[in-house]
Amino acid sequence: MPNKGMLVVLSGPSGSGKDTVLSEIFCKAPELKKSVSMTTRKPREGEIDGVDYIFVDESVFTDAVSDGKMLEYARYGGNYYGTPKERVDSWLSEGLTVILKIDVQGGENIRRLYPDAVSIFITPPSMSVLEKRLRRRGSEAEEEVRKRLAIALDELKSISDYDYMVINDSLEDAVDDVITIIKAEQLKVTRRKNYLSEVIENV
Ligand code: 5GP
Repeated sequence: MPNKGMLVVLSGPSGSGKDTVLSEIFCKAPELKKSVSMTTRKPREGEIDGVDYIFVDESVFTDAVSDGKMLEYARYGGNYYGTPKERVDSWLSEGLTVILKIDVQGGENIRRLYPDAVSIFITPPSMSVLEKRLRRRGSEAEEEVRKRLAIALDELKSISDYDYMVINDSLEDAVDDVITIIKAEQLKVTRRKNYLSEVIENV
């Protein structure tokens, strides 16, 4: 039987660059699994249904919640976001490492359900850089940018609940930092019980 897999929670304010960091990580470490969330938010330009998110309307989302199909869910900026349960559970039972890109409420729920989950908070170097990034993205109206900045300030207060903090100043460094954290956590003796017994048997 493989070792139980590992859940990695990656949070960070909208505009912290966590999407870019994540897509680089999946290029460099394709063995890591990405959970695709379900959301009631409208797709941004270039986003693909089933790849970036599973885009649904509110009734589909609330049905999935009441049918027990979500591992966690949260309301963020007026929309629902949630992690479908089935795929994550099956990857974990195969001993794989699964990354959840979720907000701080989701992070809190996952830590409660999976106390051995590893949590990483990605921050922008400063609030002014965050504001610039959100405006440059141009996909959100002014009111939405303000809303996201207010949420970001609030989310930054939760950093101390996380295991690791990665500052996304240089993309390359942030990607390396996250991969290093994951590698080190995978090598922990507590996560390698099966290997330990194999080693002892082969002495
Ligand atoms: P965005 O609209 O910018 O793609 O995402 C908004 C926020 O929702 C981000 O902080 C993102 O990490 C979070 N988010 C995305 N998917 C999920 C999810 O499945 N669960 C939770 N709790 N948050 C999510």
